[in-house]
Amino acid sequence: MDLIDQAESILQQLFTAIKQYPREKEDISIFNVIRDEYDKIEDEKMRRIVGMCLAAIEDHEGSDLTELSTKSYGVADGNLDAPVLTIDNGLGSFIKQIVNRHNLPVELNTIVTHIEISNQSNGIVHISTLDGRHYSSKYVLITIPLGCLKARSIVFNPSIPDWKLLAVDKMGFGLLNKVFLQFSSIFWEENLQNIDIITNHYYQFYICMPESCILVLYAAGSYAREFEQYTDEETVQTLVTSLGRIYPLMTDPIKWLVTRRAHDPYACGSYSNFAVGADLETVKELARESHDGGVHWAGENTNYSGSIGYVDSAFESGQREAKYIQEKLKQS
Ligand SMILES: Cc1cc2nc3c(=O)[nH]c(=O)nc-3n(C[C@H](O)[C@H](O)[C@H](O)COP(=O)(O)OP(=O)(O)OC[C@H]3O[C@@H](n4cnc5c(N)ncnc54)[C@H](O)[C@@H]3O)c2cc1C
Repeated sequence: MDLIDQAESILQQLFTAIKQYPREKEDISIFNVIRDEYDKIEDEKMRRIVGMCLAAIEDHEGSDLTELSTKSYGVADGNLDAPVLTIDNGLGSFIKQIVNRHNLPVELNTIVTHIEISNQSNGIVHISTLDGRHYSSKYVLITIPLGCLKARSIVFNPSIPDWKLLAVDKMGFGLLNKVFLQFSSIFWEENLQNIDIITNHYYQFYICMPESCILVLYAAGSYAREFEQYTDEETVQTLVTSLGRIYPLMTDPIKWLVTRRAHDPYACGSYSNFAVGADLETVKELARESHDGGVHWAGENTNYSGSIGYVDSAFESGQREAKYIQEKLKQS
């Protein structure tokens, strides 16, 4: 058996251990389930290959294996088909088309700070924004990221009920950052799609875009959080040093862009996942209406009947709640 076959066989064993973890037992992290088997791998090269494949789960979920639920492993993917669709010029262009076609009154750069449903307001929801505007409505649909809910970025009066805050805190919110490095010319093999660098201390995964001489680093979980502490220049220097060990003739990048989603107050991270202890019931609580039916909840973290953490999840949950609110309006 060659190295890759051996690695595949070890990985299969590890995934079997994850999938066969007894339902009746208390949830523990994926890392805790596989640690003993992983520690048994004596060959250093093999440990790195297996470690690289495990790190792909962390990239996908945006969290470390030490944080992810074993019992809910795979649930977030719902019945989603393999991702095949990309949209030219980004998802914003898709949203713009919907907005234009239906003439929707979308107000950009409008930061909600307070939502109030006071006893005196007869069930009417009052929404206040940072620039001092006020809106009133019968219902409100909240779709801010789970990270912002964890940070309690909007003040609710009365406050968000405890059962929902419990779910907000229980569900995981991953972090995936990207570092774009543009070079004056390519120094890697033109037909490469990815470059993976594995050391004993870290795993780096780059997507290659030879047409624009760009490498994009994907950094997830604690690795991504660590990067957010550094300046752009420090981050770029770290990456150049590790790439330089493989490509000694490479030149320094001419441009770069480093995302810091954990520090972005309107993101506070990237997308949801099942942290240890979280399950579909948690997602249902995130989706459940509150404040006597005045406040509704959608967004990728609430899509209990499908996937979690994807664009599809956000879209489906938005449709679910919009239909529900429409029904309520018809009946009132
Ligand atoms: C790096 C990265 C790569 C990804 N890749 C993919 C992929 O390949 N395929 C895929 O399907 N999904 C991908 N996703 C996930 C996908 O982008 C999200 O699941 C999806 O965008 C979630 O939609 P949402 O509407 O729930 O939340 P968001 O898209 O986060 O929208 C929430 C909105 O709320 C706004 N907001 C926050 N606070 C306030 C406030 N106080 N007042 C007013 N507005 C506020 C934010 O500005 C934001 O516009 C990726 C995510 C990241 C970060």
